[in-house]
Amino acid sequence: MNRRHFLTAAGFAGAAALVGCTSDKGQTTTAATAAQPAEVVKWKMVTTWPKNFPGLGTGAENLARLIHEMSGGRIEVKVYAAGELVPALEVFDTVSRGTAQIGHGGAYYWKAKHEATQFFTSVPFGLTAQEMNAWLFYGDGLALWQEVYAPFGLVPMPCGNTGVQMAGWFNKEIHGIADLKGLKMRIPGLGGEVLRRAGGTPVNLPGGELFTALQSGTIDATEWVGPYNDLAFGLHKAAKYYYAPGWHEPGSTMEAIINKAALDALPKDLQSIVLNACKVVNADMLAEFMARNNQALETLKKEHGVQVRTLPDDVIAELKKLSDEVLLEVAKHDPLTQKVYDSFTAFRARVKPWTDASEVAYLKARG
Ligand code: CA
Repeated sequence: MNRRHFLTAAGFAGAAALVGCTSDKGQTTTAATAAQPAEVVKWKMVTTWPKNFPGLGTGAENLARLIHEMSGGRIEVKVYAAGELVPALEVFDTVSRGTAQIGHGGAYYWKAKHEATQFFTSVPFGLTAQEMNAWLFYGDGLALWQEVYAPFGLVPMPCGNTGVQMAGWFNKEIHGIADLKGLKMRIPGLGGEVLRRAGGTPVNLPGGELFTALQSGTIDATEWVGPYNDLAFGLHKAAKYYYAPGWHEPGSTMEAIINKAALDALPKDLQSIVLNACKVVNADMLAEFMARNNQALETLKKEHGVQVRTLPDDVIAELKKLSDEVLLEVAKHDPLTQKVYDSFTAFRARVKPWTDASEVAYLKARG
């Protein structure tokens, strides 16, 4: 008894609760076990984000909170920031193995697992947030994503969107495509491959490492997300010019990845709660980014004197040409990636006339 209480008091409440029901044979329960019904499901969530990182890390926290609330406390999700349980870029393997039951990150971090993963975050000159949601939920997008993740024992769900990102932070002005030559830039996914084709060197670093890498000169430039997140990392202290638009990430979908065995083990109502909580966060995050980005952009300009620039038209035209080449090449990698590419590009072609007649025409009219 005493030893048990000592262990609990010393911070072993979790371990004590786990053994509480089986080893004590009803003789004793800790405060922790007494407060919880026996059927509470305890999940671990690993993320690729720093602790409580605005928008992204808090999106993961929101997901955990919603699952807990919507399930009436029947599922508890403990969130681990990048590096707390595993490093950022080990989230996929950790959930695949079942060491954690759920993860939050971006599909394009996993291109080494499968080339097609990159299409489910964002594609250079691809779909906007609204169009991505249309492809994922009302086109073939989500079904294809599930097909790509199935061999890893994972179920993906769209779980957040940043909207259009920024092209990134540079220490020199970009006048022509030649200015990208020799540039070592943090830019993941397909955008990175486009930069490579333009003569640059893409690197993939988790967000938490960007400021130091940029300030120390390990990289010459970096993209991250947009004003809200970039301000939080202090990237304006490490580079002078901030370029628009995020040609490489026009509407990046964040993901929840769920261990399939863990999901299947839940009763149907809890499965629905987990999947639908992801959809809530998917919509909520986009709203938050829209609200906070404009505020942060003003702060960057007015308080920190950041020079905001737009990439010249001829640079954009060249990047677009290179993007088409990269996408075609990536598609040839394997039949499933080809299938994803075909679906994505066909949807983009189909949706464009409507986007032009609605969003584009309206924004032009509003001026
Ligand atoms: Ca980005």
